[in-house]
Amino acid sequence: MGMKKKQFVIIGLGRFGSSLGRELIELGNEVLGIDKDEEAVQEMSSALTYAVSADCTDEETLRSLGVRNFDCGVVAIGDDIQASILTTILLKDLGVKQVVAKAMSELHGRVLEKIGVDRVVYPERDMGIRVAHQLVSPNLLDYIELSKEYTIAELAVPQCLDGKSLHDLNPRARFGCSIVAINKPSGIIIAPTATDVLAMRDVMVIIGTNEQIEEFEATVI
Ligand code: ADP
Repeated sequence: MGMKKKQFVIIGLGRFGSSLGRELIELGNEVLGIDKDEEAVQEMSSALTYAVSADCTDEETLRSLGVRNFDCGVVAIGDDIQASILTTILLKDLGVKQVVAKAMSELHGRVLEKIGVDRVVYPERDMGIRVAHQLVSPNLLDYIELSKEYTIAELAVPQCLDGKSLHDLNPRARFGCSIVAINKPSGIIIAPTATDVLAMRDVMVIIGTNEQIEEFEATVI
């Protein structure tokens, strides 16, 4: 995607922070990683643009590292809620344009919102929810909730639908949901038509209400 490359500062190089950092680098961005633990810094030093060891609850430290110049700051401190909150306030006060923080609990998240964080993420909670959905419907590869009601779901095409055209399946008339794309090994078909044919191992992208998609899955798959 044609995204402009950005400069990120990630505070806390635990499991979440280091995974986030690696992926941001993979996507072509610059990442400064900071952790108070020397070992965590050592481990990430070759993967990130810069990695330094510092306690980020200290304002002078953050100032001297120039964090104000970064496009986005991510507070990925886990268990130490006090350190997470202090660091978040400092990043906001120093004028970092976008501050994202990881919350360990709903209450922690509420505090982060009160102090003006731009985005709170709940990785463990959200991954738990996601995995539950995938376990309940084995063909579900991924999904995006557009609203409380509407979802876009990626479903693996099972053997029983191999060779079926969208006309055969007729999901719009039968369930009210639409197949908006079919991802085939040969390429993706966007806005497929009635004559397009599904093959096993294709991925179909469906848009509809949660009920319509559930109904589609239960009836067709
Ligand atoms: P995860 O669940 O993502 O692994 P952890 O709580 O294990 O999260 O990791 C958070 C990281 O944040 C740890 O490596 C820890 O050393 C670091 N950290 C905690 N407090 C501070 C602080 N005040 N300044 C900098 N780094 C910190």
